[in-house]
Amino acid sequence: MRLRQSFHFFLFGMFVGLSLSGLIFFGYTSSWFSRTDVTPWLAPVVCEGTFDSNLIDSIYKQQNITIATTVFALGKYTRFIKDFLESAEEHYFVGFRVHYYLFTDQPEAVPEVKMGKNHHLTVRIVPSMDRWQDISMGRMEILEKLMENELANKVDYIFCLDVDTKFYGRWGVETLGRLVGVLHPWFFDYPRDQFTYERRQESQAFIPAGEGDYYYTAAAFGGSLADVHHLTKTCRKQLNIDAANSIEAIWHEESHLNKYFLNKKPSKVLSPEYLWRDINMSVGQVKIIRFSHVAKNNAEVRPNV
Ligand code: UDP
Ligand code: MN
Repeated sequence: MRLRQSFHFFLFGMFVGLSLSGLIFFGYTSSWFSRTDVTPWLAPVVCEGTFDSNLIDSIYKQQNITIATTVFALGKYTRFIKDFLESAEEHYFVGFRVHYYLFTDQPEAVPEVKMGKNHHLTVRIVPSMDRWQDISMGRMEILEKLMENELANKVDYIFCLDVDTKFYGRWGVETLGRLVGVLHPWFFDYPRDQFTYERRQESQAFIPAGEGDYYYTAAAFGGSLADVHHLTKTCRKQLNIDAANSIEAIWHEESHLNKYFLNKKPSKVLSPEYLWRDINMSVGQVKIIRFSHVAKNNAEVRPNV
């Protein structure tokens, strides 16, 4: 009796177990987007636990690579340079060749920051502008020209970063790829109909409802020189067409970047560990915060509202 009971119990257990695994399997395969470590086109989504930093460092150490890194600080944004550079020197591609290009309208406001081994800083003067939107969008053309005129054949990779940011953890060779996008820290767990893509058909950045993979931030993107050159050139052209048609995409160059990534899928996607937001520091949705937007009072730092 006891034996038969336990046999029935065993059968029942098997049934529940198989049904559950069936459910889990079904849920997993029918909702491909539930995977967070890879995109639907099989690009890795880089986050803590998906790579071995020592191993990946040793692989890239065998190559003689240079990573250009661009950052803009115009008007009151020069106040962010010190923390950005000092924290980068602690965490950003330590041990690899890095060439920062800092664009500013006030070279005298650039603080002295000690560069680590094989890290160099070049300061470039750019004219000041009256609208923060123009400063932000204007980066695409300046970057396009920098790559065309100076970086071709000199650097292997490039990252283009916002200056109102700070590094808190490693940002290393695990981020390198042909075309690299970073998930926006506000939208990574939102359904796509809530992404703030440009929805007006008149704009070149238009993305119709039901399309789009992720919402990417314009505060950090990168990749190989050729691919990022193509990205900046395309976005610059699209921005110019919009300007000629007197339309400005809802989130400026970020809207155009999202349109670009819809057509040209990133070969690597960085999780929001690679661009978090200081104001939500306590939220435990990421395992580690590597790079983060600092809190800023837009009304106080921007030239216009
Ligand atoms: N920026 C600048 N001066 C300005 C406005 C913007 O140098 O007055 C540059 C700066 O590099 C900044 C980037 O443009 O990180 C994007 O602007 P912002 O950070 O204000 O945009 P948000 O990240 O708030 O969308
Ligand atoms: Mn910013």
